[in-house]
Amino acid sequence: MGQGLSCRETNEHGLFIAVQNGELEIVEAMLEDEPNVLGWRTVRGKLSALHMAAAHGRIEVLSMLLDRSINTDILNRHKQTPLMLAAMNGKIACVERLIQAGANILMFDALNGRTCLHYAAYYGQSDCLQAILSAAHSTPVAQSWGFARFVNIRDGTGATPLHLAASQRRPGCVRILLDSGALVCVSTSGYGYLGSTPLHMAARGGSLDCVRELLAWGADRLQRDSSGRIPYMVALKYKHEACAALLNPSSPEPLIWPSPLKFIAELNPEAKALLEQALIEANKEREKAILKDTVYIPSSPLHSDTGVCDDDSEASDVELCCICFEQVCRIEIQKCGHQMCAHCTLALCCHSKPNPATSCQKVPVCPFCRSSITQLVLSKVKTNTVMNVEFSPSKPRRSRKSFNYSEGSSSFKGLSAMGSFKMGGRSSGKVEGVDKP
Ligand SMILES: [Zn+2]
Ligand SMILES: [Zn+2]
Repeated sequence: MGQGLSCRETNEHGLFIAVQNGELEIVEAMLEDEPNVLGWRTVRGKLSALHMAAAHGRIEVLSMLLDRSINTDILNRHKQTPLMLAAMNGKIACVERLIQAGANILMFDALNGRTCLHYAAYYGQSDCLQAILSAAHSTPVAQSWGFARFVNIRDGTGATPLHLAASQRRPGCVRILLDSGALVCVSTSGYGYLGSTPLHMAARGGSLDCVRELLAWGADRLQRDSSGRIPYMVALKYKHEACAALLNPSSPEPLIWPSPLKFIAELNPEAKALLEQALIEANKEREKAILKDTVYIPSSPLHSDTGVCDDDSEASDVELCCICFEQVCRIEIQKCGHQMCAHCTLALCCHSKPNPATSCQKVPVCPFCRSSITQLVLSKVKTNTVMNVEFSPSKPRRSRKSFNYSEGSSSFKGLSAMGSFKMGGRSSGKVEGVDKP
């Protein structure tokens, strides 16, 4: 071994630089010259050209390499696959291409025993997370393993993707995972603190949005970790005052995503998104009283794509909800066709917090005709700014809150009592209810 680089080392170096920079022609030319470059590895990390292309999002190079039918699940020093590197770096095109080429979504690295799903959750790569979950519905691996089990897959220390997303302050990923059936109260075996739930991890990370999402999905504020601490104590320890305020067991319980809604087989995706937004908005309004004494950092809007802004010019010719007389009818019950607003729909299904062990799963019924609700869809409104109308602050207000509910009335009143939440902007940190994400 002499001094300086050998001819092959120089070539290797050139290859990896070319892959990293996405120089397709150069990489192709090198492959023509010497087909075994596909087996070359970097000295330190034992990265292959495929790893390099995936990590840097070089989709053209990656596609070209995959077309030469190389092993999609080639491992580096830490037993990481190209798919893991693409997922952690948010290279969605590469993630999709690798999955399409048959990359295994159920590989575990040698660092913490994590999968590509853990990586996407940890680094907050929502679109990659979604792509992997979609793949899990169809790939043979998930068929043998089971989708629900895959969503709740544990790493070497017992952390699920939800634990990681919560600890790393990734509310977008937290929501996707919860929506996909991640267990909200599952405990770790070793990660962070023994026996921590995702809520403990969120309390530690200090993300108010994560805490909010988890609470709305029924996370238990009283669940203790192995050392007997509830999430509230963890938030206090890490000096996350706002999180601690919400997690304080003496603070009012937030509204939770009503379990009967989970059993409406055909919850229209748009209707679902609207209801989820209504729930989060309602909870934010509740939080104002809880958080007013703490330093409240306004959170980023969860639904920036809905672009809530004030446009009341068209609110006048839409129908007001016959239950609250405040909100616009946006949800239609099928098949009876009765309509109500998103908030009243939630209230209808929000009874007291269900006990997972004993709750009987009652199908919600239409408050007008008592027929059971099998499907909820968006009602057709003759305005094209549908999302905007819901939170319009200058709608005619009639105080007819005396509508009497036969059941679930306490939570209904709870929701209705702060039904005027649209008046004060969306969160205390925002000005005049206008937010431009
Ligand atoms: Zn209503
Ligand atoms: Zn009806």
